[in-house]
Amino acid sequence: MRRKLAAGNWKMNGLSAALDELAAMGPAADGKAEVLICPPATLVAPAAALGLPLAIGGQDCHAKDAGAHTGDISAAMLKDAGATYVILGHSERRADHDEHDEHVREKCRAAWDAGLAAVVCVGETLSEREAQNTLDIIAGQLAGSLPDGATGHNLVVAYEPVWAIGTGKVPDVDQIGEVHDFIRARLEKRFGEGVGRSVRLLYGGSVKPGNAAEIFAVSNVDGALVGGASLRADDFLPIIEALN
Ligand code: 13P
Repeated sequence: MRRKLAAGNWKMNGLSAALDELAAMGPAADGKAEVLICPPATLVAPAAALGLPLAIGGQDCHAKDAGAHTGDISAAMLKDAGATYVILGHSERRADHDEHDEHVREKCRAAWDAGLAAVVCVGETLSEREAQNTLDIIAGQLAGSLPDGATGHNLVVAYEPVWAIGTGKVPDVDQIGEVHDFIRARLEKRFGEGVGRSVRLLYGGSVKPGNAAEIFAVSNVDGALVGGASLRADDFLPIIEALN
């Protein structure tokens, strides 16, 4: 049985006052579903120090464990600050920082070496979907971004259609199901049935309290990676609740 996962990606949002929102999410995090919040790097340590029954993650890490890389943060640093997860290959990193599958793969290895679980993001752009290339794009991203050695503990895959992120547009449930079933099949083929079946698959892109339950009912959707609606407890609590 895969444990459901409600993951929040705060992106570049959150000053120290946001820890109050996190604290307000704490009690709901004690249910059936696992809860993960990935705050900006500046808040990883204070968020973890709150000792809430939820996991804390980073939003990126460098592929190297230390060295002359000004402004970067290593997986070991995240782990040291109390993180247990790291998001990798988010489409905003792929676009803003020219990250490609091979970078994501190296970062994923670094995360695993440091003892972090990786939430690896894949997803097509609108033009790729309109050209009916969605599954090819996803297949390529999975093949390129995932190193060998995945397990149900060290890997979560998030399907985030780029055109659904922050837009209020959500694929219909058939489209979500098609991609999630496809990802599941690919993981089983690459890593074996046991591992492939144990990796959790999250949907991400404009998940809100009002559409969460419908999305969570889709086959092979084990939870969500939520951006905007994870910033405030009032929005995120009903999403967690829809998984419990
Ligand atoms: P929104 O939920 O704001 O669309 O963001 C999704 C996302 O990018 C999560 O990683």
